[in-house]
Amino acid sequence: MQISVWEKESFYAPKDIIIIGSGLAGLWSAYYIKKQNPKTSVAIIDRGIIPTGASTRNAGFACFGSVTELYDDFTKMGEDKTLELVSMRYQGLQRIRKVLDEKLIDFELCGGYELIASDNDPGTEALEEQVATVNKKLKQVIKTSQTFKLSDKKISEFGFQHVAHLLENKLEGYLHSGKMCQALLQLVQSMGVLVFNGVEVTRHEKLHDKIILYTNQTLRFTAAKVLICTNAFAELLPKVDIIPARGQVLVTTPINGLKLNGTFHYEEGYYYFRNLGNRVLLGGARNKAFEEERTTDMNTTDKIQKELERFLSRYILPGKEYAITDRWSGIMGMGSEKMPIMKEVSPQVYCAVRMSGMGVALAPVVGEKVAEMMK
Ligand SMILES: Cc1cc2nc3c(=O)[nH]c(=O)nc-3n(C[C@H](O)[C@H](O)[C@H](O)COP(=O)(O)OP(=O)(O)OC[C@H]3O[C@@H](n4cnc5c(N)ncnc54)[C@H](O)[C@@H]3O)c2cc1C
Repeated sequence: MQISVWEKESFYAPKDIIIIGSGLAGLWSAYYIKKQNPKTSVAIIDRGIIPTGASTRNAGFACFGSVTELYDDFTKMGEDKTLELVSMRYQGLQRIRKVLDEKLIDFELCGGYELIASDNDPGTEALEEQVATVNKKLKQVIKTSQTFKLSDKKISEFGFQHVAHLLENKLEGYLHSGKMCQALLQLVQSMGVLVFNGVEVTRHEKLHDKIILYTNQTLRFTAAKVLICTNAFAELLPKVDIIPARGQVLVTTPINGLKLNGTFHYEEGYYYFRNLGNRVLLGGARNKAFEEERTTDMNTTDKIQKELERFLSRYILPGKEYAITDRWSGIMGMGSEKMPIMKEVSPQVYCAVRMSGMGVALAPVVGEKVAEMMK
């Protein structure tokens, strides 16, 4: 099919910037590019009917890390990088609440908790020392001296078993991932961003002063600059250090008298759960099968789902009646380090990828930084 002259001069007209990927990184980047210069013509192309990666398939946590995860990060990544990441995540969460209507995205500042299991209890004193160390370091970027505190009284309140300690963080919240992406999509469209779905970009080429994007259809797109926001899907960025990591999730039926309220982390964030009304959403356990979960395949597996069910019945809902109604997976973009990659990969082609399983919180700041870089 040939395109008409009308289409050529409107929808398919060359753009100042084309973004590949309409997940949170692509959407926040579009928002900041338009905010910085409303006259820039911007289009987003996504191969999915809707964003199809991690942004609408995560657990809906608005968090910036648990004590054991941050303690481990401080050790492995060093203080400066860890604080930079925490600060980006913390600022990102504040931006979400500032730019989007909290009610529209079901945002709630519910508080977050980390569970320390009885069979892995370092003892109250050692834990308090860890909390104090992390709090002291975080004070440089989060203006409170007590981000985390021990909150053991709530263990029985929430109905947990086999849990020795709870660490509380009042600054965490949860939100509705689908509603947030939809709200952001509508916002950028209202700013004049054109969005094409169901089109896969297969390669790009520099021709004179423009970038030509080839697709899985007969269509080609032309832009002065291109921004690749495909996170874990690295086909367009073969030389970049990106490792896909599947995150699996399940949701239960409604549970009578469910006391759980908040976001919960376990084992350095490898397990995470929250209430969804009076249902429980639980995800993770990737650390039980690292190699198998290093994939962009979006099916769920028996191995991980069974492990999640075991965890659910042992720690979260002991003795309760429930069934599992929903199971899905999303793909995170990891690498040899946790910092997202924001750079010019070739002349006029940039990327903002590898959100390291933290893109809900990171994407607003990543979007702003990359918009600045592309000016
Ligand atoms: C189970 C789970 C739990 C998570 N928990 C948290 C959390 O607690 N806190 C947090 O901050 N983050 C969390 N995350 C991570 C967060 O969801 C991601 O970091 C974030 O959504 C990544 O956004 P993105 O836009 O970079 O990537 P994605 O949302 O994956 O978007 C990439 C898009 O690129 C498109 N695409 C790929 N290749 C092409 C191509 N060639 N042509 C056109 N389009 C293409 C895809 O269709 C996709 O829509 C979690 C993720 C998962 C899966």
